[in-house]
Amino acid sequence: NRELLQQSEKLAVVGELAAGIAHEIRNPLTSLKGFMQLSHKNDPTYYTQIMLSEIDRIHAITSELLLLGKPKALDFENKALMPLLEAILTLVNTQAILYNVQIATLVRPGAEGVVVRCEETKIKQVFLNVLKNAVEAMPNGGELTIALEREGAFVRVTVADQGVGISREQLAKLGQAFFTTKENGTGLGLMISFNIIEQHGGRLAIESEEGVGTKVDIRLPIIETKGA
Ligand code: ADP
Ligand code: MG
Repeated sequence: NRELLQQSEKLAVVGELAAGIAHEIRNPLTSLKGFMQLSHKNDPTYYTQIMLSEIDRIHAITSELLLLGKPKALDFENKALMPLLEAILTLVNTQAILYNVQIATLVRPGAEGVVVRCEETKIKQVFLNVLKNAVEAMPNGGELTIALEREGAFVRVTVADQGVGISREQLAKLGQAFFTTKENGTGLGLMISFNIIEQHGGRLAIESEEGVGTKVDIRLPIIETKGA
């Protein structure tokens, strides 16, 4: 499809441009942060505090933009999916405890030893983005359920939260660069996640109801199943 190709080419050019700019911003930002920290240490005020946290935010945005600029072919390997998910769960756990979020993992029969063809760091990045969003959606705690199941030639990872949910208007904007409702958000996590799952021949879908919760559904093609 010609249009799709054009679009992905455009995205690659934009990505490279964004990464180039992000890189240039990094150096002065690093020195700015250093002097700001020094100033805050000598004379801590509300203003220096805010300036430091805003510098951190710019830093986070440039980090994500830098990742965009590397559209090089993925380094695919066959990997068991469970260990990748478990590694990310360990990372997210600390934040979950802080938010009073209970995590339940459900592995359906047949999904345990599922192997997918993937670039490990990319799939981990998707899990991290999606799980962090789920935790951040539940500032007053709640339950986060992760289910892993086999569905024909695909494995499906469902991440369901009991968080604030997403309105209809917002749902349409998910995956657009810089769309965020968070004070310190970058609005890049989902765009990057959609992209990565697509590059893996999978699909990422989001369902949500305001005030009830959100369900993120990630499907990836199965290469083989170990120990089945
Ligand atoms: P960020 O997390 O930096 O805001 P994302 O691309 O990860 O950027 O998410 C974009 C927006 O989508 C969030 O700001 C939030 O409004 C919404 N969102 C994503 N996941 C969820 C979720 N699980 N529950 C509620 N809103 C969500
Ligand atoms: Mg996010």
